[in-house]
Amino acid sequence: ATPMSIMVGVGKGARMGVLIRDAEALERLEKVDTVLVDKTGTLTEGKPSVTAVEPVAGFGEDDLVRLAAAVERSSEHPLGAAIVAAGKDRGLDLPVVSDFAAPSGKGVSGRVEGKEIAVGNAGFLEAEGVDLSALSGPADELRRDGATAVFVAVDGRPAGVLAIADPVKAGAEEAIRELKGSGLRVVMLTGDNRTTAEAVARRLGIDEVHADVLPERKHEVVETLKREGRVVAMAGDGVNDAPALAAADVGIAMGAGADVAIESAGVTLVRGDLKGIAQARALSKATMSNIR
Ligand code: ADP
Ligand code: MG
Repeated sequence: ATPMSIMVGVGKGARMGVLIRDAEALERLEKVDTVLVDKTGTLTEGKPSVTAVEPVAGFGEDDLVRLAAAVERSSEHPLGAAIVAAGKDRGLDLPVVSDFAAPSGKGVSGRVEGKEIAVGNAGFLEAEGVDLSALSGPADELRRDGATAVFVAVDGRPAGVLAIADPVKAGAEEAIRELKGSGLRVVMLTGDNRTTAEAVARRLGIDEVHADVLPERKHEVVETLKREGRVVAMAGDGVNDAPALAAADVGIAMGAGADVAIESAGVTLVRGDLKGIAQARALSKATMSNIR
């Protein structure tokens, strides 16, 4: 590729909000045959909010939100922010937390008012010895609507489940249809639960889903596909996506995403608009055919 044609391609991209880091990214894009897409913050707005509060007998809705929000106040996760916002909306005073811990991709725990509180996904709470069988029915119902079920335990016993919903981005469905229409294989990659992930995938026309993937394993999915001979683009926004973005043939970061995601990517979509993936590929094709 001549430096001039690359510059023209990069310049055109920039005007559309598609920032291409270097010649390598632009050259590789046209060869991509598989697009992996993170769910939260990439396919969805990344602005989750609490949409249902379902305590077990013996707890009130406000009790449940207050205890969960007290622990999540120390969290940096968007789900944590949603729970804290729910506490504020309800006008609740949040007690202080001690012994805070936040195992990545699982949830949070801490001590509040002398009680041991754990907030997170089923695997996390079950590993802590909490029996969630009483909550699995309600949780599944919330997930089938595409919400994330977040469980709350108090002193090792289930206290309730919160539904957190994150609306899909406007234009995401159309962007996915366009990618599939051009012959690409589109795959969702998420740390979220399978039922929730599949509900969102169905809404967007994505028929291949890797769910329950821990942050440190996301890049393994990229590497497996590459070993199978695939040329992989990975789109993501989070700190936990950075290794997968770096492992992909082309990493694509959302402009509103974490700095480390942007630094790990060859392409940044300034407005987080997924149509930019197809636009970037079209630029790559135009540039490369100009050169040949
Ligand atoms: P994604 O890959 O969709 O961006 P993450 O890997 O960040 O999601 O998180 C995976 C799952 O871990 C979440 O869907 C949630 O169930 C759980 N989780 C992570 N952090 C928290 C938290 N602070 N509070 C509650 N649940 C959490
Ligand atoms: Mg994400």
